[in-house]
Amino acid sequence: MQIYNTLTRKKEPFKTIEENKVKMYICGPTVYDFFHIGNARSFVMADTIRKSLEFKGYDVKFVMNLTDIDDKIINRANKEGISAKDVAEKYSKAFFEDTKKLKIKPATVHPKATEHIQEIIEFIKDLIDKGYAYNIDGDVYFDISKYKDYGKLSGKKIEELEAGARVEVNEKKKNPLDFALWKKAKPGEPYWESPWGIGRPGWHIECSAMSCKHLGETIDIHAGGSDLIFPHHENEIAQSEARTGKKFVNYWIHFGFLNIDNEKMSKSLGNFFTTREILTKYRAQELRFLYLQTHYASPLNFTIDALNASKKGLEKIEDLASFILDKINKNQNGDIVDFNFNYYYQQFELAIDDDFNFPKALAVVFEFVRDVNKLINENSNLDVSVYKEIYKLLQKTADGVLSIVSFEELENKSFHSLEDDLIKIIIEIRKEAKLNKNYALADKIRDELKKIGIILQDAKDGVIYKKEIR
Ligand code: AMP
Ligand code: ZN
Repeated sequence: MQIYNTLTRKKEPFKTIEENKVKMYICGPTVYDFFHIGNARSFVMADTIRKSLEFKGYDVKFVMNLTDIDDKIINRANKEGISAKDVAEKYSKAFFEDTKKLKIKPATVHPKATEHIQEIIEFIKDLIDKGYAYNIDGDVYFDISKYKDYGKLSGKKIEELEAGARVEVNEKKKNPLDFALWKKAKPGEPYWESPWGIGRPGWHIECSAMSCKHLGETIDIHAGGSDLIFPHHENEIAQSEARTGKKFVNYWIHFGFLNIDNEKMSKSLGNFFTTREILTKYRAQELRFLYLQTHYASPLNFTIDALNASKKGLEKIEDLASFILDKINKNQNGDIVDFNFNYYYQQFELAIDDDFNFPKALAVVFEFVRDVNKLINENSNLDVSVYKEIYKLLQKTADGVLSIVSFEELENKSFHSLEDDLIKIIIEIRKEAKLNKNYALADKIRDELKKIGIILQDAKDGVIYKKEIR
């Protein structure tokens, strides 16, 4: 398996630290608002990478943090007239609701910055002890002049960065590029006690501390949107490697940005969509299908037309999935045919192995759908075991990894609608029995339905029914 590593700027063979185990960290949301479809792209890509690794048999420990203390949260709190804690709680809850709707598997751990203040303080203390950080009047900064490899991830030259940064010079810092590890509390701001006085952690140190706590000093994969390469990830490397003297991350994965109608998504341009809003009109499968058609590292141009097209594109595969479920329910014996399922499994895995080439993986699934449809057209009497194999392949790939089909939803839908339709037919028959004054039959129908937990109630405008909870 090959992964493109931002650090080395090339595709490299994937070798894990521990055999068959992957330690993966992704920078999660800052919980000050509902997350938008750009954030969602990064979350879905990370989720699909994790599911791909699990498909390949790796045991993945997947950590995704929540930044629940930050300037943006404090600003929002002041605007809404509530506490920063309330803002963070409100949008953390929304984050979990929306990621669930998006069919993103919950992380092994979702650490919150505010629950790791002690670890962060210890981390900063170590950096000061080792001479990599300095305290000025309650603010603690990382001294980038002490860390010789600064710039290795982004490929930026320190001299050029310094020239740019000088514009916003903070007199207190030794070097304009030095970044805050600990920020002294301003009046009215939330704060924690520390050896340097009351204050709160800087953003970068949070991820280094949480990654180290939950995954160890060196991890396999660290991922995030490409906007995070500099300065966030550059700073994470500097802090972590300065502290441990060990390599922080073996593979850096960055997701391309999502733009709308070829423009940057922004509230002022009015082309801004929250995921929550999109999911009221479209299903998770449709959004995921749209994301997966572009390689994770390339920019993605989002349009509503493309989302509508993605809805259409899914029909073929969902039609087949529903048909297969129906055949499995009927459980009929028939012809056992020779069909090379292994070929599709192998092609799917090859796509994943080539730096998570999801557009290719999608193409394999659609090739499978086309070939299976042909098989079904040619053999009207296939054995249920064949349908079970088809189900298994789609379940593992299209559902389990790509999450562009949900068998759970399809099963519920087909079962419920069939059940509802049958009850409606029975209610009609009972109505006719009553019209014919055949009350014995009408009562029998009601009593028999009650025995299987369906209660009929005669109402003014017809009959309503409900399922008894047992
Ligand atoms: P934030 O809540 O701003 O800290 O971002 C959460 C995650 O979403 C990070 O991994 C960002 O890099 C990513 N992200 C933010 N905006 C976009 C975008 N327009 N397209 C893709 N990813 C994004
Ligand atoms: Zn981070």
